[in-house]
Amino acid sequence: MRKVITPERFEEIKATGQLPSPKGVALAVINLIRREDVTMPEVAKVVQSDPALSGRVLKLANSAHAGMRRPIASISEAVSVLGFPTLRQIALGLSVLSNYRSGQCKNFNYQDFWSGSLATAIATQLLSTNAKTSPEETFICGLLGNIGRLALATLFPEAYSEILEKTANADFATVEKAEYAAFATTQRELTTALLLDWGLPKLFVNAVYFHEVPEEGGFEEGSRDYVLTYALHLATRLARVCLTQAEERRKLLPDLYRMAAKLGIDAEQLASLTDRIVAEWQSWGKILDVPTQALPPFAEIAASLPALPETSGNGNGQGKDAFRILLVDDSPSILQFVSAVLSAAGHIVATAESGKAALESALEFRPQIIITDWVMPEMDGISLCKALRATQAGRRIYLILLTALDDEAHLVEAFEAGVDDYIVKPLNEKVIKARMRAGERVIRLQEEIEREREEIRRYAAELAVTNRRLQEAALTDPLTTLPNRRYGMDRMEQEWAVSLRNKRMLACLMIDIDRFKQINDNHGHDVGDAVLRQSAKILRDSARTQDLVCRLGGEEFLVICPDTSPPAALQCAERIRKTFEAAFFQVENERLRVTVSIGVAGRGKSMTHFDQMFKAADQALYAAKAQGRNRVLFAKQEKAEVFWDSPI
Ligand code: GH3
Ligand code: MG
Ligand code: MG
Repeated sequence: MRKVITPERFEEIKATGQLPSPKGVALAVINLIRREDVTMPEVAKVVQSDPALSGRVLKLANSAHAGMRRPIASISEAVSVLGFPTLRQIALGLSVLSNYRSGQCKNFNYQDFWSGSLATAIATQLLSTNAKTSPEETFICGLLGNIGRLALATLFPEAYSEILEKTANADFATVEKAEYAAFATTQRELTTALLLDWGLPKLFVNAVYFHEVPEEGGFEEGSRDYVLTYALHLATRLARVCLTQAEERRKLLPDLYRMAAKLGIDAEQLASLTDRIVAEWQSWGKILDVPTQALPPFAEIAASLPALPETSGNGNGQGKDAFRILLVDDSPSILQFVSAVLSAAGHIVATAESGKAALESALEFRPQIIITDWVMPEMDGISLCKALRATQAGRRIYLILLTALDDEAHLVEAFEAGVDDYIVKPLNEKVIKARMRAGERVIRLQEEIEREREEIRRYAAELAVTNRRLQEAALTDPLTTLPNRRYGMDRMEQEWAVSLRNKRMLACLMIDIDRFKQINDNHGHDVGDAVLRQSAKILRDSARTQDLVCRLGGEEFLVICPDTSPPAALQCAERIRKTFEAAFFQVENERLRVTVSIGVAGRGKSMTHFDQMFKAADQALYAAKAQGRNRVLFAKQEKAEVFWDSPI
């Protein structure tokens, strides 16, 4: 449980007589109520003896229930309606306020303290209507929620003044530490001890204890403790808005929206609540003689906010769970509120105030999620959605519509326009977060699919490259890198068809190295390979550009000669033969001589298939071998037909 000052220490402090305490009529009222046999008229009489107190009691009793019940006109009625315990608290709070308006602590601003406490009181009362507590009690709880600070200022004016100076910009924990080091107690210990001593209900004391650090309370969301603690917390923040100067106010807003969301209060509700608080604060200020200041309407304060930076986030905005979210709304307060909720959740948030601005921003910012208002001037949320869905990138964005229009017809219209989800106004943090989770799931799935698709694309590209390589390999002879037999035959078929269609001539040379077996036998297989490679080079170099050279297998090569007459083919063959005859084949330390025999054939008129020309060349080669090798022979065929085949 919480650390509360020990009873001994508290008694010790109390004994100094310096603690804030009720005085005068209020003290009399409080003491009177302690008596068991006291009657209502008796109490009312004492209250009435102090006109100021009477007026304030009436005002509080009436304002807390404004419009909800018949106004209370007299103190005796107030006493009976409020009941003794509440009356006691009112007397106490108001008395302390009247009696401790100034003091010795130099750096403690007594006026601001009470002005802020008053604003806190009013705000707490208005914010905790859900807590099912008496509004007069919550008022006093807010009013006295920081009374420990006044106690420190009263008890230790000089030392506390120093601490105030040193910790002016420090966080709550640091302030507490400094207080503890100096006084062996802290402002919240003293607040708690005082409130318990004054008999305030435990529920309030609990809320007061945790209100500066509400998360520490660990209260169940929505419970009375939770509502009161957060209400008191938000009330102190609202009080700061009331007290600060205009230019400082805007800085307080994001935190304010976040805290309001904890109580299920959306931006618009917060705006109207704040305006009401400010009005009540000013009216109470007059009655209690506490200074207040005039504030513009909340909507104006929110609107005066400078445009949010392009992106905002809480440092971990780049984490893996962070999304790029674009908020679109013409209401700056809604932008602020939703932006605060999402930034606090670690997302990267950008804002736009119109559909048109959103479209421009979407291009640059590349949001994964767009949360957009429906009704906006110029371009509404539905038009924005349709415009986005018409683009490639826009189709992938998860789009949530903010709407007050949740009837069937409107929702059908929204979904038909391509909206993914909608959130009904008024907005609250829980619902926004729940809808975001749904969106996150969809986006993660989409990303996964996208990743898989990308992998498939990459795999397909790799496969295509591999296929090309395989294809190449399948059509290339690895030893000589010449096209192989398969490729040669395919090309032969193509050239045959082309020559037929265009009535062009076609010839081929069948080349075989003479006595190659002997090279292998005399010099080894490797030398044989080297000779084959060099032969391939000679063939490649001596063939004309339109000719195709390929290795049929072993030491046999084929040259396809498109558009070539038999005499031209013979000429070509003779050139090749001579080149071989003249060439030295440098192998290791030896220079070998290699000759070839060549059979030449042209497309004959009666030939119906390239195979026939091929065979004719092969036969001519065979004949060349038979006639002694190192020679060129033309195929025995219908010479006249071949020669006159030419259309030229
Ligand atoms: P001919 O003048 O009658 O053509 O005599 P040849 O020895 O050239 O003819 P033959 O067909 O009897 O011998 C061809 C030899 O070529 C047989 C084979 O071992 C050899 N050979 C086939 N392919 C390769 C190869 O890739 N590398 C090597 N080194 N030798 C091969
Ligand atoms: Mg041979
Ligand atoms: Mg051979």
